Amino acid sequence: MKIHEYQARQLLADAGIPVPSGTMVTTVDAANEAAKSLFDAGATLLVVKAQVHAGGRGKAGFVKLCRTPDEVNEAATFMFGNKMVSVQTGPEGLEVTKVLIADGVDIASEFYLAITTDRATGANALIASSEGGVEIETVAHETPDAIKHVRINPLAGLQPYQAREMAFNVGFTGKQVGQATNIMLKMSKLVEETDASLAEINPLIVTPATDEHPDGQVLAIDAKFDFDDNALFRHKNLQEMFDPSEENESEIKAAQFGLNFIALDGNIGCLVNGAGLAMATMDIIKMHGGSPANFLDVGGAATLETVSEAFKIILSDDKVEGVLVNIFGGIMRCDVIAEAIVAAAKEVSFSVPLVVRLEGTNVDAARDILIAAQSELPTMQTATDLEDAAEKVANAVLVASA
Ligand code: GDP
Ligand code: MG
Repeated sequence: MKIHEYQARQLLADAGIPVPSGTMVTTVDAANEAAKSLFDAGATLLVVKAQVHAGGRGKAGFVKLCRTPDEVNEAATFMFGNKMVSVQTGPEGLEVTKVLIADGVDIASEFYLAITTDRATGANALIASSEGGVEIETVAHETPDAIKHVRINPLAGLQPYQAREMAFNVGFTGKQVGQATNIMLKMSKLVEETDASLAEINPLIVTPATDEHPDGQVLAIDAKFDFDDNALFRHKNLQEMFDPSEENESEIKAAQFGLNFIALDGNIGCLVNGAGLAMATMDIIKMHGGSPANFLDVGGAATLETVSEAFKIILSDDKVEGVLVNIFGGIMRCDVIAEAIVAAAKEVSFSVPLVVRLEGTNVDAARDILIAAQSELPTMQTATDLEDAAEKVANAVLVASA
């Protein structure tokens, strides 16, 4: 589960990591009000930031530095009124319903800091770079040596000496070293406590030198977290941060029925049991020139209700121009699937081609059910095997869209 930057900032602040203060707003009026009170309190620089579950906002014009109330008004009006399209969103972009109005800071340098699972070592890694900011992807691609890694022992946790060494390695100097070390250790503790699979501060900045802080101050001004869904049950505070408006509606609905569903870009809806078979089904659809609209594993313990729900979720997607049902009945009985298809077809009438391939437990009973319901399923074709099924559905979609 992902959260918004304003929520991530709160987690960091609660963990003792320095973050400039800010307020999340949902309307332009509220943005103006928040800005007014910050300017009245003596702020000279504010930053207006779209809150969406995607990065690359700076380059897309959805992070704006503002020095006057008018500038805040203009920035907030723009963000609430336009979809944000960045390298991370895809061309359709994301609607902005939340905006953060935060104290802006002057920046002397920008660093990158993250903790995430390193599958090569089977442990979390602390990752840092002196090349933080909006170009970190380019840095990773072109000068990977500028990004430093250190393995975190899963039992002992990040050690102070490791954090300190990392702080020196990426170029913090003087009093910055202690501050950066402290931030890394607190972040590591936070990752552990929250079962985060990713925690990222980009940029972690150093402010310009002042008389009070001759080495500047180290602050987090953007943060991102991703949490392990399987551990969410033990984090009530994190569950409350869930923002359904940032998620795909079908995925939320599917999760309520215990279905493993991921929306994709194609036009062939897939209803499959078993994640391995679902992957193979998607591959074979691709090999036959089709493109899957989703990944859906109904699981072994699916019931008539969950399977018909799955079918309805697939059909509710406007992009779906054909459906492939591919079931290998082991624990899952083919007759249950067949009944579910018929039941769902009665509830939501559909006209897209449907190809069904069933094999395994109670397959004969399933065939009888489908044959008996042929008049209710005029677009249905049955297939003998997976290859045949993929070919039939890819062709049927081509014909239907021609
Ligand atoms: P992202 O593009 O979605 O990662 O959004 P960020 O919050 O990281 O902002 C992008 C960039 O905007 C940062 O790397 C900074 O260079 C700049 N920026 C963000 N907040 C401030 C701020 O308070 N002051 C200044 N001077 N620049 C900022
Ligand atoms: Mg950033």
